[in-house]
Amino acid sequence: MEHVVVVGAGQAGAALVAKLRDLGYTGRITLIGDEASAPYQRPPLSKAYLLGKLDRERLLLRPEAFWTDRRVDLRVSTRVTAIRPAERVVEIGDERLGYDALVLATGARPLALPAAIGGDLRNVFTLRTLADVDRFEPEFRPGRRLLVVGGGYIGLEAAAVAAASGLHVTVLERAERILQRVASPQTAGHFRALHARHGVEILEGAALDRLEGDDAGTVRRARLADGRVLDVDLVVVGIGVAPATDLAAAAGLAIDNGIAVDALGRTSAPDVWACGDCASFPHDGRRIRLESVPNAIDHADTVAANLLGAEKPYVPKPWFWSDQFETKLQIAGLGTGYDRVVARPGGKEGAVSFWYYAGDRLLAVDAVDDARAFMAARRMIEAGHSPDPAAVADPAVDLKTLLPAGRP
Ligand code: FAD
Repeated sequence: MEHVVVVGAGQAGAALVAKLRDLGYTGRITLIGDEASAPYQRPPLSKAYLLGKLDRERLLLRPEAFWTDRRVDLRVSTRVTAIRPAERVVEIGDERLGYDALVLATGARPLALPAAIGGDLRNVFTLRTLADVDRFEPEFRPGRRLLVVGGGYIGLEAAAVAAASGLHVTVLERAERILQRVASPQTAGHFRALHARHGVEILEGAALDRLEGDDAGTVRRARLADGRVLDVDLVVVGIGVAPATDLAAAAGLAIDNGIAVDALGRTSAPDVWACGDCASFPHDGRRIRLESVPNAIDHADTVAANLLGAEKPYVPKPWFWSDQFETKLQIAGLGTGYDRVVARPGGKEGAVSFWYYAGDRLLAVDAVDDARAFMAARRMIEAGHSPDPAAVADPAVDLKTLLPAGRP
């Protein structure tokens, strides 16, 4: 294998090429990204960076020299326009670049509001890239009225930063509650109360009918389905993402909620692999796709090893975090399919964890300002160990005593 081409210079693409070198691969590597920046971290875009507490330099995943030192041909501001698996070629406009192995790490793209309901008005933003933040930062000023459409993690994080920066913030959630798709009513309740304490107005079960602009095409009002009208100066749309599958689909690769890969990370085309947000993979008898930094890194590491012949199936160890105001949420496991939630008060004020069970099986834990509960939960979930819910709920029981046997 003389030449590995990676499409997408985000979290997964960057991790993959670094891992290939760590594992001793000495051939040629080309890492191609359509954004202007070298690979950077996205999570701070809705947290410390948006708050102005993190320099741009510190967003970078690696210093510039890293790529040259490791002989990675990093091509930024470069869009791959087609892949031709039968010819082992990618196209960049008129340029054709051959490969021996191709990795698609194209990530995901934010869903936008349709233009027909005002999605194309000025000051209506999505939040995925540094360029997105650059576009809306000048509008992000104290006293302005921000509407956040979508009460998921990114929307709530943006709302928290905006409120802390002195904007008047309303969050609109169409579902009956915030975090409906990703967290329990208990976790949602905790964050609803947190936002309320900071003056964020959260409207649940409230659908947007349309956005309306002024003569200059700048957003001014939001009309809700129930007839309410909100005056707004800017809108952040956080209604989810779609995996970037267009290149793969156009080349006829199997798509199933993302680019479908097998346990090793191989797509349906020979010598074409995929990892990170864009890829769906087999897990626990079903096919899933995860949107998180830990998954992007671990999936990329596994694919790098498999490119070199390791034949190692990918076993995700899902975890995630979210920062809102002074609160840190850490999540271990995947809560899908839970039938009850056990609350456990933490050691310090405000700390609490919510334990998701399906029957007696522990699936996931949301730990709010409780790093100990998070660490213990991760170990339990990774070991497939389910502690007695009654013991979990009792703050007098030390979590250490509930860890799997042999791992104190
Ligand atoms: P990406 O990082 O999206 O990288 C894909 C890259 O491929 C992009 O640069 C894209 O432009 C490029 N690309 C696509 N098509 C082409 C093409 N044809 N040619 C060239 N380049 C192309 N995760 C967490 O775990 N915790 C968090 O707190 C958290 N917060 C987040 C906050 C925000 C605001 C956002 C946007 C995401 C957050 N995430 C968080 C999610 C996390 O950032 C993603 O899961 C992770 O970046 C996925 O990595 P990836 O490499 O698969 O995709």
